[in-house]
Amino acid sequence: MALIVVKFGGTSVGDIERIKNAASKVAQEVRRGNKVAVVVSAMAGVTDQLIAYCHGVTPHPNPREHDAVVATGEQVSAGLMAMALEQRGLNARSWQGWQARLRTDNGHNHARILDIDTTKLLDRLDKGEVAVLAGFQGVSEDGSITTLGRGGSDTSAVALAAALKADRCDIYTDVDGVYTADPRIVAKASKLSKISYEEMLELASLGAKVLQTRSVEMALRYRMSIQVLSTFENAIGSDLPGTLVTDEDETMENNPVTGIAHFLGAAKITLAEVTDTPGVAASIFSPLAQAGINVGAIVQTASNDGKTTNVTFTIPRGSLGRAEEIIKSEKEKIGYRNIITDSHIAKISLVGLGMRNRPGIAALMFQTLADKGINIQLIETSEINVSVVIAEDYLELALRALHTAFDLDMA
Ligand code: ADP
Ligand code: ASP
Ligand code: MG
Repeated sequence: MALIVVKFGGTSVGDIERIKNAASKVAQEVRRGNKVAVVVSAMAGVTDQLIAYCHGVTPHPNPREHDAVVATGEQVSAGLMAMALEQRGLNARSWQGWQARLRTDNGHNHARILDIDTTKLLDRLDKGEVAVLAGFQGVSEDGSITTLGRGGSDTSAVALAAALKADRCDIYTDVDGVYTADPRIVAKASKLSKISYEEMLELASLGAKVLQTRSVEMALRYRMSIQVLSTFENAIGSDLPGTLVTDEDETMENNPVTGIAHFLGAAKITLAEVTDTPGVAASIFSPLAQAGINVGAIVQTASNDGKTTNVTFTIPRGSLGRAEEIIKSEKEKIGYRNIITDSHIAKISLVGLGMRNRPGIAALMFQTLADKGINIQLIETSEINVSVVIAEDYLELALRALHTAFDLDMA
């Protein structure tokens, strides 16, 4: 008998028929003699709608009340899933985050899980009851409902699997695994049977939303392998044909590039002719940091006269207005000629452990983009990724060309 955690994403519980279909997968697993804890997302589109309601009331919703509203999507699907399981003759019960004692810090809208008290859950699982946990939500020290950030149900599932010391954590979604690039954009993307935690973490943090970044961090920390599967094609537990996210092994370094991620959520700011004196970078970035704006890539170029420089950097698209306001209000202190902003940019990142000891990856990337006439605006690298920022209009062309150039196309 195994203890497994099974998570269903928004599309997988997108309507009543789909909830019934997901319930039938859980039932099969129970009939095999396994103990099952289910984690559900809100029905597809519901979280977006709830967020829109909040913004309909105020442009800056109180974070606590925002969470009180947006967490309800998962409450609904957990209750419906428990009913669908009962309908199949199983014992099942829904658990809200607070009922499962999933404790978080009080960072509303992006709370971090502290721990889960599994005593009651385990007791009921031992008695053959299926636990259905509302994903994405927890409870803070002061008893407020918190949420874990967009895509957070993945993290709920991995955290629950780790806390229960589960034998498996299966994440059911609307694609049948992790692909070499987003299969909705790159038709020739191929499915990876296995991927290391490190590479998945890099892909997720660079935009591949198939798993929330934090869920992979947590999987790595607790060495909890994740199986990514499709709700719509695979039979649960059959031969698990999706993608296994797990420890690195030797076979994983064959290809220098394992996958390509893309991200459309950034904007770019250029400050032209910034006075080139000590402290100028601090005068730009300190006020942004104080406003809680995360800065990504930064490029500083020297201009001919040696007295001024151009500074370009990226920030989250949603923070552009605020960042522009701040920089303009600090114009005198910073000393620059003008500010240029651009929110039509895309970031494309090549990721692979095999990149570590192989020169020439960045060169081939740049040449491939040059051959297509695509201009590179910014470049960033780490040990296992190379990222470029380009104009958003070229995203699909660039992704497909790079996918082919790095031998990732499906055979
Ligand atoms: P869920 O609602 O089940 O959590 P998400 O929409 O959050 O599902 O994540 C699944 C989506 O991730 C897919 O539909 C796909 O478009 C996207 N995606 C992006 N990059 C990849 C990738 N490399 N492999 C698979 N899917 C990816
Ligand atoms: N419902 C939440 C969201 O849409 C959490 C999740 O689906 O994982 O972001
Ligand atoms: Mg998701």
